[in-house]
Amino acid sequence: MDLLDKATRGERLIQGEIEALYNLPLPDLAAAAHQVRVVKTNPNVVTYLIDRNINYSNLCIIGCNFCAFYRTSRQNDAYVLSYEEVSEKVRELESVGGRRILMQGGVNPDLPFDWYLDLLRFLKSVHPGVRIDAFSPEEILGLERLTKRPAQALLEQLKAAGLDGLPGAGGEILVDEVRHRASPARIGAEDWFRILDVAQRLGLYTLASMVIGFGESYAQRALHLSRIRAQQDKAKARGDTGFSAFAMWTLQTEHTRLKGKVPGATAHEYLQQVAVARLALDNIENQQASWPTLGFKVAQTALYYGANDFGSTMLEEKVVSAASGHKRTHATEREIVREIVEAGFIPAVRDVFYNIERFVDPEAVLSQARPQNLPAS
Ligand code: SF4
Repeated sequence: MDLLDKATRGERLIQGEIEALYNLPLPDLAAAAHQVRVVKTNPNVVTYLIDRNINYSNLCIIGCNFCAFYRTSRQNDAYVLSYEEVSEKVRELESVGGRRILMQGGVNPDLPFDWYLDLLRFLKSVHPGVRIDAFSPEEILGLERLTKRPAQALLEQLKAAGLDGLPGAGGEILVDEVRHRASPARIGAEDWFRILDVAQRLGLYTLASMVIGFGESYAQRALHLSRIRAQQDKAKARGDTGFSAFAMWTLQTEHTRLKGKVPGATAHEYLQQVAVARLALDNIENQQASWPTLGFKVAQTALYYGANDFGSTMLEEKVVSAASGHKRTHATEREIVREIVEAGFIPAVRDVFYNIERFVDPEAVLSQARPQNLPAS
C-alpha cells in the first residue's frame, strides 16, 4: 500500500516499484489510479475525438506475425489507394464534422518517397482544414532504407508537405526480446524511440502506445512504461510537447499466425494495465480507454481505472479489425457520447492535443434517430 500512497502523493515510482504494482489487489490499484486521474485532469469530463482511419495501402514487406491486415504484392487483394480515393474518404469525414485523419499503410518498397510528399500536398490543397497524422515509425524506417536518408531529413520534408503528426503506432512492448519473438523483422525499440524523438523535436504530434498479450512479463511491461516515461522526460526537458497521451489495448490474434501461440490478455489484465500506467506515467496527463478490442463496457470501466478519454470514432479502422476476426472497430459519435454519459461523465470533443473544443449536449446527440457518422463503405 506504501507504493500507492507514494504514487497518489505525486512521487515517481522507480521501475521495480512499477513492477510491484501488478501484485496489488485490482480495486486498490483502481482507486489510486482514479485518484491521480481526477487531480491531473478535469474530474467530471471525458473527452473524445471525431476522426477517421485511412489505410492508403495494405502492401507490406515486414510480415508481422500478429498482423492480418498486410498483403504481399503477389496477393490479388493488395491495394494502393489513389490520391482521389483518399480524398473521397476525407470528404466523408468532413461531412460528419471531423477534421483529423489517421493515415497509415505498410512498408511498401514500390512507393517512392515523392509519392508520400505528393499525397500530403494534394490532401492539404483539397482539405486545408483537416490535420494529417500519419505513418508509423516502421514506415519511416522503411523510407530511410529506401531513400538511404535519415529520419530527420525525411520528416522535415514530410512536415513541409503537410504532415501534422506521427502517431506512435507499433509500440506494442518496447522490449526487443518480446518484439522479435513475436515478429523477427519488426522495428526494434531503439529505432522506434529514435524516430519518435526526431518527430517530437520537429514539433509533430505523437502518441505513446502499448499492446499487452504477447506473453510479456510484468518486468517487461514495467520496462516499457519506464522507457516511455524517460522519452517524455527528454522531450519535456527540451520544451517539446512530447506524447499527447498514452493509449493501450490488448493483442488480437484471431486471424493471425500468433493465434494459439501467445496468451493474449483478459479484461482484468487490461484494467490492471490501465491503472498501472496511470500510476507510472506521471509525466503524461491523458490516457485513453480503448473500446475496440474489449468493447464499450470494459472501456467504460477503464474510466474509473485512470483513463480520462474515450479515444476516437476511428471510422474505417482496418488493422485491429482484421486481426480480431473483423470485430467492428469504429464507433459513431452517438455511441461514444452514450457510453460516456452512462459512465457518469460530461462528454466533450477535443483536439489531438486534448484541448476541449466543445462540450456536447448529450440530449441533442442521443436523440438522433440513427448513427450519423458511419463510413459510406
Ligand atoms: S503491423 Fe504494419 S509493419 Fe507489421 S505487417 Fe502489418 S502493416 Fe506491416
